[in-house]
Amino acid sequence: MKREIRSNYRLILTPDLRDAFPRGDHEAALLQLSDMCAAIRRHVDNVAQVKVEFDTRSVCSFCGYDWEEVTAADLSSHPDDYEGHVLGEPMCCDQAATEFRASLKETAR
Ligand SMILES: [Zn+2]
Repeated sequence: MKREIRSNYRLILTPDLRDAFPRGDHEAALLQLSDMCAAIRRHVDNVAQVKVEFDTRSVCSFCGYDWEEVTAADLSSHPDDYEGHVLGEPMCCDQAATEFRASLKETAR
């Protein structure tokens, strides 16, 4: 007979930071969350650990789309599709590609 054993109990808290500070202010978010951790430790019994975790994703500062670069696998598997593109070049917009190519020229100096 299958028997379920429950363990590793945890409480998942999702803070509402929408109106706390300007969107995208990572340092302000970390400070706010640190304050919340301290308040939980101070006011809640039987807490073994409170820690801050967050997700990170990369987006293009020009167009806002997710950051996606040409990979070695792209170049080798579909060379015709990526003709004229170079390894590491962002694919979302021309502005990002232009910036990337300019940085390559700076590096080459
Ligand atoms: Zn872009």
